[in-house]
Amino acid sequence: MRIDIITVLPSLLDSFLHHSIVQRAQDKGLVDLKIHDLRDYSENKHRTVDDYAYGGGAGMVLMIGPVVNCLEFLKKDREYQEIIYMSPDGRPFHQGVANELSLLENIIIICGHYKGIDERLREHFVTREISIGDYVLSGGELPAAVLSDAVIRLLPGVLSNESSALSDSFQDGLVAPPVYTRPAGFRGMEVPEVLLSGHEKKIEKWRFEQSIKRTQERRPDKENKGTSEQANN
Ligand code: SAH
Repeated sequence: MRIDIITVLPSLLDSFLHHSIVQRAQDKGLVDLKIHDLRDYSENKHRTVDDYAYGGGAGMVLMIGPVVNCLEFLKKDREYQEIIYMSPDGRPFHQGVANELSLLENIIIICGHYKGIDERLREHFVTREISIGDYVLSGGELPAAVLSDAVIRLLPGVLSNESSALSDSFQDGLVAPPVYTRPAGFRGMEVPEVLLSGHEKKIEKWRFEQSIKRTQERRPDKENKGTSEQANN
C-alpha cells in the first residue's frame, strides 16, 4: 500500500515514520509512506502556501494552487482510490473505516493548517473527509498519523502475529478482554486462575465473556455494531 501525506510541517511526522511498527512495515516493503512538504509546490520564491481568508476574519487559509500542484504531481505516477482531507467536520474515524482503507492500494492524505484549506479543494479534489474526534487540533498531521497507524497495522504481515489485529477492540463489535503477563502474583494481586490453566477452550470462553462484559459496561453503543458500522461507511 502507498500512502502520500501532504503537509506544511513534515518534521512533525518524522518520529511517526520511524517508530517501531510503521518503520518495520516500510522496511518489509508492506507500506510505502511518503511525506510531501507543501512548500515545495508553492507558486512563488518565498514558498508561500497560505493567504488571508476572503471576507476577512482571523486566521490564514491554505491556498488551492500548491495543493493542486502536489496532487497533480502525485497522480502522474499512479491512480489514487481516495484523496482524504483530515477535518474536524469530516466523518468520524473508527475501526471499520481503517479496515476499509487498508484494502486500498494508493491514498493521499491532506493535512490542513490554520483555518483549514480553500473550500474549492474540498469540493473538487477531496474524495473523503475524516475526523478523528470532536475537538480541534492545530493541524492535520497528528490526525493523519492516527489514521495511517490504524491502517498500516492491519496490512497482512505487518504485525508479527497476524491474528493479533483481529483480536483487538472493535474488530468484532466488542472491546478487548483484559491481558496479563508475568508474574502470576504481585503483592497479593493474582492473575485469573483460568489463564494459567493451559485449557485453551476455557480461556477462549473466558476472554469472550470478558469482552462482552466490558463492552456492556464501557461501550454499550458498540455492542454488535462492528459489521453494520463497516457496511455504513
Ligand atoms: N477552522 C477549522 C479547524 C481548523 S484546524 C474548523 O473549525 O473546522 C486546522 C487543521 O487541523 C484542519 O484543517 C484539519 O486538517 C486538522 N484538524 C484539526 N482537528 C481535527 C480533527 N478533530 N480531525 C481531523 N483533522 C483535524
